[in-house]
Amino acid sequence: MSARRLEGQVTADAIRAGLVERIAAVTAALGRPPALGIVLAGHDAGSEIYVANKLRTAAEAKCRAELFRLPAEASVDDALALVGRLNADDAFDGILVQSPLPAGMGRDAEQRVFDTIDPRKDVDGFHPTNVGLLVQKRASLVACTPSGVMQMLAREGISPAGKRAVVIGRSDIVGKPMALLLLHQDATVIICHSRTPDVARLASEADILVAAVGRPCFVTPAMVKPGATVIDVGINRVSDAEAIARWFPEAHPRRVQFEKKGSLVVGDVHPDVWDVAGAMTPVPGGVGLLTVAMLLANTVTAAESRAARS
Ligand code: NAP
Repeated sequence: MSARRLEGQVTADAIRAGLVERIAAVTAALGRPPALGIVLAGHDAGSEIYVANKLRTAAEAKCRAELFRLPAEASVDDALALVGRLNADDAFDGILVQSPLPAGMGRDAEQRVFDTIDPRKDVDGFHPTNVGLLVQKRASLVACTPSGVMQMLAREGISPAGKRAVVIGRSDIVGKPMALLLLHQDATVIICHSRTPDVARLASEADILVAAVGRPCFVTPAMVKPGATVIDVGINRVSDAEAIARWFPEAHPRRVQFEKKGSLVVGDVHPDVWDVAGAMTPVPGGVGLLTVAMLLANTVTAAESRAARS
C-alpha cells in the first residue's frame, strides 16, 4: 500500500471543531441551539443507522435534533404535510427527509418531498433553488457528501485548481454537485456515467478521480493515473464470498472481517488502487464520515441565516 490515506475522521473532527464557536454564537443569538428536524418514514435498516448517527452527532455538538417518524404505509401526502408543518415551525432551522422513502409512496415521492422543503431549511442542499444557486457559485446550503469531499481536499492540501478531475456518476446528490464544486475551484471536470464510452481511459487521465458509481470495486488500478488523488464515495454492502475472494487475498484483514460477519461494506474502488494512487480515501472511514459532519455544518448555517433575518 503506497497511497496516503485520507482519513475521514480527521477532516470530520476538524469540521466539527470549526463549528464550536459558531454554535455558541448562534445559540446566544437565537436563545436556543441550532435545531434539525429529521423525517424518517418506515424502518429501512440502513436508514435507522444513518438517522441514529445524525441524532448522536447533533447532540454531541450541542445542537438539537428531533426525529419525526412516519409509518411505512404512510402516503406521500402524509410526508408532504409533515414537511409543511416543519417548514412553518420556527423551532427548526433545518429539515432532513431520510432517503429512501417507502416504495409505496410512489416513484416521484422523493422529488415532491424535497421540493416542498423550505430552501432556507434545506440542509441536504437538494432543493432546486439551492441547486440553482450552486450552479451560480453562490449557494450556502450544498449537498453534504460532495461539500465534505471539498473540505477534505482543502484540509489535505490537494488543490483542484488547474487539475483534471473526473467524476464517475451523475446523480443529483453526489456526482453533479461534486463536479460543480470542483469546477468552481478551477478544476477541468469530466463527468462519466453509464453511457460514457471508455470510462477507463478518461479516468486514467484524472489528477483527481471521484468514484460515485454504486458498484463495488468498479475502479481498477488500470483506470488510475499513478499518483492521482482517488476519492471513493461508494458504500456497497457485499455478501458474495466469491467476489470478496477476488478482491481481497487470503488473510487480508478485510477478508477476515467478511468471514466473521458474512458481509462487508466496500467502496467503488478496487483495493489494488492503493498501490497506484498518490492519496486515497478508505471505505469505511473515508467520505461517509464527512457527510454527517457537513449536515451539522449546514444546520448551523441555516440557524445563522435565521438569526441574521430576525
Ligand atoms: P446513483 O444515483 O445510483 O448514481 C450512480 C451513478 O453511477 C449514475 O450516474 C450512473 O450512470 C453511474 N454509473 C453506473 N454504472 C456505471 C458504469 N458502468 N460506468 C459509468 N458510470 C456508471 O448513486 P449515488 O446516490 O450517486 O451514490 C453512488 C455511491 O455513493 C453509492 O455506493 C452510494 O451508496 C454512495 N453514497 C455514499 C455517500 C457517503 O456519505 N459516503 C453518500 C451518498 C451516496 P447513469 O446516470 O447513466 O445511470
